[in-house]
Amino acid sequence: MRQLCVIGDPIAHSKSPLLHNTMLRALELDGEYKYTARRVPGADTAAFLAEARAEGVAGFNATMPHKEHLVPLMDRLSDDARMYGAVNTVCLRGGEAVGHNTDGAGFLRALLAAGLDPAGRTVLLLGAGGAARAVAPKLLQGGAEAVFICNRTITRAAQLCAWDPLGRLAPAGMDRETLARLAPRCSLAVNCTSLGMEGTGGQFEDLSFVDALPPEAGVFDLIYSPAETALLRRARARGLRTANGLGMLIWQAILALELFLDRELDGPAMARLLEEAMK
Ligand code: NAP
Repeated sequence: MRQLCVIGDPIAHSKSPLLHNTMLRALELDGEYKYTARRVPGADTAAFLAEARAEGVAGFNATMPHKEHLVPLMDRLSDDARMYGAVNTVCLRGGEAVGHNTDGAGFLRALLAAGLDPAGRTVLLLGAGGAARAVAPKLLQGGAEAVFICNRTITRAAQLCAWDPLGRLAPAGMDRETLARLAPRCSLAVNCTSLGMEGTGGQFEDLSFVDALPPEAGVFDLIYSPAETALLRRARARGLRTANGLGMLIWQAILALELFLDRELDGPAMARLLEEAMK
C-alpha cells in the first residue's frame, strides 16, 4: 500500500483525508493508496521529510506551520511554490522531492467553476493575510484588470500590493466609506478575511458596500462554514452570483491528487463527488 498524507500541527480537523480517500475510492485506487493525517510539530519538518523518503511515502500535503519550512528542503519547486515561497504539496518520485502549491490554482479553478471568471474585472478583495496572498496573484493571472486590496490594517495591504511590479494591486482601507466608494467600480468581490466564519471569526459591522456593487457583480467568500455567510446572504438577496470557499478547498485537493498520481482527473466530476462527501 502506498502512503499519502497531510502534515500539520494541529491536524485533527483536516478535511484532506476525507477528500483524498473519497477520490481514491472513486478511482478504484483505494487498494493501492491510503491517505492519512499526521501531526508533525513545526520543528520537525526536515525530520519528517527524511522519514517520508525512507518509508517510501508517495507524496504529502502540508499545512501550518510547514508550508514555508519546506521550500529550502525541496529538490525542485513548481512556479507557484516559488512565487508564493510556500509548499502545500510534495511529490516524492525517483528519489526527488518536488514542491508544489495548489492554494492559488485551487481558488482560480473554483472561481471559474462558479461562473465568476475574473478576466476583465476590477476586483474588491477584502483582507491581506495568508489567504489574500494566495488569491491576489491568481486574480491577475486570471486576467483581472485591477484588484483593490482592502484591509483593516492598511500597511499589510500595501505590503501585499508591492508584489505586483505592474501596479495592478492597489491598497485601501476596509472602512465603510472606502468600500462604498470602491464597490461601484468592482464587478467581483472576494472575501479573504476571517469575518463571517463560524466560531471566532467576528462579523462585518457593515455590509452596505454589497448594495453598491454593480448588478452584474459576483461575490466569492473563502469561508465555507457556515455555507452561507451574512456577506453571501446579502449578495444573494440582491440577485448577485455567489459562491462559498468549499470549491477552493475541493479544487486544491483535486489538483494535489493529480500531482501525486501524475495524471489528469475529471475535475468537475471529482468536484461534484467531493461536494456530496462534504455534506
Ligand atoms: P489571516 O492570515 O489570519 O488573515 C486574516 C485576515 O482577516 C486579515 O486580513 C485580517 O485583517 C482580517 N481580519 C480578521 N479579523 C478582522 C476584524 N475583526 N475586522 C477586520 N478584518 C479582520 O487568515 P487567512 O489564512 O488569510 O484566512 C482568512 C480566511 O480565509 C479564514 O476564514 C480561512 O478559513 C479562509 N480560508 C479558506 C480557504 C479555503 O480553502 N476555502 C483557504 C484559506 C483560507 P488585519 O490584517 O487587519 O488583521
